[in-house]
Amino acid sequence: MLPMLKEILTQSVKKPVTNLFPAARLPKSITGFLEDVGRGKANLIPPVETPEHMRGKLSYKRNICNGCGLCMKVCPSHAIEQVVYPVPPAKEGEEQPRAQKRIRIYVGNCIFCGQCIDICPKEAISQTSEFLLAAEDRFAESQIIE
Ligand code: SF4
Ligand code: SF4
Repeated sequence: MLPMLKEILTQSVKKPVTNLFPAARLPKSITGFLEDVGRGKANLIPPVETPEHMRGKLSYKRNICNGCGLCMKVCPSHAIEQVVYPVPPAKEGEEQPRAQKRIRIYVGNCIFCGQCIDICPKEAISQTSEFLLAAEDRFAESQIIE
């Protein structure tokens, strides 16, 4: 009981350790703020300090991905699917090139565990510090990485 009381008293005088975003950045007038955004004087999503190595939205470099599919296999939340891009038919006498396999990541399913990053042999996936990811449509452009 005593250690608990001590902890309660200590915590009641300590400053919160949480980031006060967005409360700290709440404008006095929402209408005025939106007008400023329209005039290009304010950003809808202001830059916010984030910790080093923060696990935010994934970034994917399609041009270096080899389509091996390992990321898909380890993803615990089935956030990654394979996409096959067809290639034009080969000219006569030429060998038909193979269809290009790449991936698509669904932000709404991702739990930011980082397993796909660890397994990728090409370092094609990385994590950014972008964290304002809410959207009404889980299939909106902002919610799909490819
Ligand atoms: S970070 Fe984790 S949950 Fe998100 S896509 Fe990669 S493996 Fe899947
Ligand atoms: S593990 Fe890397 S190289 Fe393989 S499909 Fe995924 S992103 Fe591409």
